[in-house]
Amino acid sequence: MTTAHSELLRLCNALGDPTRDLVLSAEGNVSSRDDNPESGTSHMIIKASGCSLATMIDRDLLLVDRQVISPLLDQENVSDDVTAAAYRASVVGGGTSPRMPSVEAILHSVLYDETHAQVVAHTHPTAVNAILCSTSPELLVGGALFPDMIVVLGRRQLLLPYIDPGVPLARAVRKAVRGFIAEEGTGPRVIYLANHGLFVLASSPDEALQITTMVVKVARIISGSLAAGGPAFLPSHHVDRIENRPDEQYRRGLLAAAASKET
Ligand SMILES: [Zn+2]
Repeated sequence: MTTAHSELLRLCNALGDPTRDLVLSAEGNVSSRDDNPESGTSHMIIKASGCSLATMIDRDLLLVDRQVISPLLDQENVSDDVTAAAYRASVVGGGTSPRMPSVEAILHSVLYDETHAQVVAHTHPTAVNAILCSTSPELLVGGALFPDMIVVLGRRQLLLPYIDPGVPLARAVRKAVRGFIAEEGTGPRVIYLANHGLFVLASSPDEALQITTMVVKVARIISGSLAAGGPAFLPSHHVDRIENRPDEQYRRGLLAAAASKET
């Protein structure tokens, strides 16, 4: 097992830990970028469809060639059968193995193609979905609530409406991410999907866990605030100040260093 495999597996098992309440049974999926500039390959290691994050082992991680599935995004009328055939063909060394990558493999692929993310983690946390499945999912992207939220999640996150998982969702996310990068100059760290869950884009497995944990905390704070008059978002001048304060930038550097050291 390579270091990348063992680090990713550790993240999968941590996200699947029932005490975190992020996923149940086979919910959620996790991947890491595995590009090789010398050979020109664009691969990712991703959870196989149907297995549980909590109990998965090394053989439940598949090496997938993104160049086999990404073209689906620009084809018209992609049927479920065409998608399934591409998914099966994308498994490097898969041979006649019936194992398929996660249904959201194409969305993970898009996020690696469009951003600098090294790790992508998708979960359905109860605390977050309580808001994403409410009439006010936009509360999650209403603004910044406290300094550490800005440090860990960035000043803006994306929210998309419910879209059929697979190729249609991947297309919508690609469009939204491109718009986000055009406006912010950098990719998002969190993408919320209404009535579904969240995608986290990170530089390491530990940072993915850190961002997911912070999102859950933010969701709990928003839900709690609704019993006390609703969330009070910070005015933009405070957000700008926190974003640019030398001590906050120092803290962000420490958090990033700690995340990469732990992996
Ligand atoms: Zn999902």
